[in-house]
Amino acid sequence: MLAKTKTDTSKATQTQRSVQRKVDADDRKKAKSKPDGAMQAGARKYPEPPFPKQHHPKPGEEWQIKPAPLYDAPFWQGSKKLDGKVALITGGDSGIGRAVAVLFAREGADVALVYLSEDRDAGVTKQAVEAEGRRCLTLRGDVSRRPFCRRAVAATVKQLGGLDVLVNNAAFQVHSADFADLTEEHFDTTLKTNLYGYFHMAQEAMPHMKPGSAIINTGSVTGIDGSKQLIDYSMTKGGIHAFTKALSGNLIPKGIRVNAVAPGPVWTPLNPSEKTAEDVSQFGAKTPMKRPAQPEEIAPAYVFLASSQCSSYITGEILPIVGGY
Ligand code: NAD
Repeated sequence: MLAKTKTDTSKATQTQRSVQRKVDADDRKKAKSKPDGAMQAGARKYPEPPFPKQHHPKPGEEWQIKPAPLYDAPFWQGSKKLDGKVALITGGDSGIGRAVAVLFAREGADVALVYLSEDRDAGVTKQAVEAEGRRCLTLRGDVSRRPFCRRAVAATVKQLGGLDVLVNNAAFQVHSADFADLTEEHFDTTLKTNLYGYFHMAQEAMPHMKPGSAIINTGSVTGIDGSKQLIDYSMTKGGIHAFTKALSGNLIPKGIRVNAVAPGPVWTPLNPSEKTAEDVSQFGAKTPMKRPAQPEEIAPAYVFLASSQCSSYITGEILPIVGGY
């Protein structure tokens, strides 16, 4: 009886070692082969790190970023998903906001852009929207200030004839390596821009919105995972995710959907105007895809969440676009 048990066990041991030998050989082969490059699964090839070392002043201007962020999605065919709509996009002059403005226009929307002080970037985005055959209003101001938000919404409604889609997207982000060095001024600027800005804009926009309207908030992977050098910023992004879910329930009776997009690293002025030049050169390298997204790879999610044709049964969701987990 004992002998039989011993025979059975040794066979299983042999099988285990045979499996192990095969995997060891595979590992040796893999160690000698070239490391995998960045993942390229897009409609065109996207830039990969290392990027030129650079560090720009806040708030960050897109015309200074090398290589230039890709936002115009030349392969994207418009199909009237936002025909006749009016959208207001905060932080719409550059980065994700610029790419969203262009795709919204290609889908038939007129667009108002809010930005802090980057007049040159705003001019480029305005031209790009107009080249799609739509109207564009540029509004320079500070979203942390309620009176400006009120004026921005009023100007949009007056000059573009209504407001159907609000994209809350403006943000302030600067790292602090040591928590003890995070000043109250820094903390306050982040919270006032990222949280109060979204709150003011949503409350001012809401009375003008009809059933079928949509609010889209830009969150972040840092609001899901946290980021040790972006404590204040991560707090606001987690807050934006909770704001999205809570407000979505509140606005269901009004027929207004509220969702968020939570990007991982995206090649925009935000990070080159806050990280060290060394960190900027490796931006996005640690994601499974080994590169940052380009703005035009994020913007389609906003079209999807803005259009009643695509997402009429979706509200209160956070859509992460992070290059793999
Ligand atoms: P960006 O620098 O192009 O956009 C930030 C915008 O915020 C600018 O247009 C700026 O004018 C505006 N802004 C800043 N402070 C303002 C204020 N007080 N009033 C009005 N406007 C103000 O960078 P981006 O990466 O396109 O950022 C867009 C959004 O994406 C932000 O909410 C950001 O937190 C989020 N995000 C970015 C990344 C990334 O890696 N780039 C990752 C996750 C989330």
